[in-house]
Amino acid sequence: MFEKLNILDEKDKHLRMVSKEATLPLSSEYKELIQRMIDELTYSQIEELAEKYDLRPGMGLAFPQLGINERIIVIVHEVDDGVFDNYVVVNPKIVSTSEEMIAAEAGEGCLSVNREVEGHVKRHARVTVEGYDIDGNKIRIRAREELSLAFQHEIDHLDGILFYDRIDPKKPFYNENELRLI
Ligand code: ZN
Repeated sequence: MFEKLNILDEKDKHLRMVSKEATLPLSSEYKELIQRMIDELTYSQIEELAEKYDLRPGMGLAFPQLGINERIIVIVHEVDDGVFDNYVVVNPKIVSTSEEMIAAEAGEGCLSVNREVEGHVKRHARVTVEGYDIDGNKIRIRAREELSLAFQHEIDHLDGILFYDRIDPKKPFYNENELRLI
């Protein structure tokens, strides 16, 4: 049976805390929670199921959004119609970044931010992330474009940063000549 996660709103203090490193190996409760996060993110991107369960589409979640200030992120990336790649990274670290910056043309959203926030969030076009998988094996992921934005967004959550913190109030929008918009 599908039971919806209790995703905290941006006003909750957990969203503004710097999370501590998670301890490996992960407990079975954490592994179960991670599976629920994967399921809910996947369903949220399948129109029929999103409607059925009243889910707002999202491709990532971080543990602080569930009230647990430990460094674990989950990303579900639709790579083809109905085909999803899952990424679970424990204690993720961005170890290299491209000089090139990009932004999502339509702006970013967050499952903890229940309102429209307009503006371009400038981020690295490519990042390399290192960390551990749920079994404690060391992993290294190279992400580009949309997936790169997702990693940066989720890792920000571990440091208490929300996407709109990175929107310049003096210049919330860029044109195509100033920044590559995807
Ligand atoms: Zn978010």
